[in-house]
Amino acid sequence: MSAPEAAAGAGATPDLGAMSRVVVKIGSALLVDDATGEIDSAWLDALADDVASLMARGVEVILVSSGAIAVGRGCLGLTRQTLRLEDKQAAAAAGQLRLAHAYRTALARHDITVAQILVTLEDTEERRRHLNARSTLRTLLARGALPVINENDTVATSEIRFGDNDRLAARVAAMIDAEGLVLLSDIDGLYTGDPRRDPDAAFIPRVERIDDEIARMAGDAPVGYSSGGMVTKLAAGRIALGAGCHMAIAQGRQHHPLQRMREGGRCTWFVASESPHTARKRWIAGSLNPAGTVYVDQGALTALRDGRSLLPAGVARIAGSFQRGDAVRICAPDGREIARGLTAYGDADARRIAGRKSSAIAEILGYRGREELIHRDDLALI
Ligand code: GLU
Repeated sequence: MSAPEAAAGAGATPDLGAMSRVVVKIGSALLVDDATGEIDSAWLDALADDVASLMARGVEVILVSSGAIAVGRGCLGLTRQTLRLEDKQAAAAAGQLRLAHAYRTALARHDITVAQILVTLEDTEERRRHLNARSTLRTLLARGALPVINENDTVATSEIRFGDNDRLAARVAAMIDAEGLVLLSDIDGLYTGDPRRDPDAAFIPRVERIDDEIARMAGDAPVGYSSGGMVTKLAAGRIALGAGCHMAIAQGRQHHPLQRMREGGRCTWFVASESPHTARKRWIAGSLNPAGTVYVDQGALTALRDGRSLLPAGVARIAGSFQRGDAVRICAPDGREIARGLTAYGDADARRIAGRKSSAIAEILGYRGREELIHRDDLALI
């Protein structure tokens, strides 16, 4: 059974407990008490219990948590309603430390190691950084750690900010091929209108395509320091569905929100029609303007067709100039293009290790890089 079938068979509701990798986004309003600016540790402990229970089932979990600005503003006496960018950045600097500490404490109760990653928009956009962030996350997950991610608000200027963690969480989910993304917020899902103003607004439990009609239901973005709202949630939904990742919008106010979802609690599921694996391969195969070409030998050609990675040993020749993370063409000895992939080495280093055993890479290059020139996850046969 393929991943999306396991998590959501035709017409079925996706099941968090059956997914291999899930990203959970936690909004500021859930975690931080508006009046006191303190972290609600009882709520966080209950969430940690839910996360631990998923991890015990073998689900890899990644948290994307807001709250740094909401926690930090009080510490710095920044009480005005609308903060300037530099105020937010200062608040985030003070708040992030407290946030990290709170997560560490809550998860330590389950002997789970928490690892903090602060990212910028560029880290998910620019290919080289994207590859690095991806392999760091994978390493953490393989070690059984729980990555807790937030935007690096203190260095991001307004032009290069995500500004909202809904989209950041979706980008993270796409980057690491997550099967599910849960946006925990103070609303239990998508309605045909704003349920706070429109008594006739009807709840929508399942969405398969975010079309204009669905987009109209989102209305306008709200004001305030945490920039959520339905508009950014739908933007996150487009990113997630495009990456083959199911997404849920769920109410997080009550304790144990993930457990509730698993028991059939109300939420809106945006259901992806393909697996993250297929979506990623499609994205790589369709990459525009590959920067260079890697000619492989007959042995590598067979290995690639068997679904294996491309090792430097199988490379006959490199053409063009490219950087680590760029998309390249992979061609058979007769020049036919057989695949595309994201290269783990720039062209200069690739030329030096072409035809050589992976065990010699460190000696040739003076650093210990990847064993593969192109990892099979980053490769799509054409
Ligand atoms: N990164 C911001 C924070 O931690 C929150 C952004 C958002 O809530 O979407 O305070």
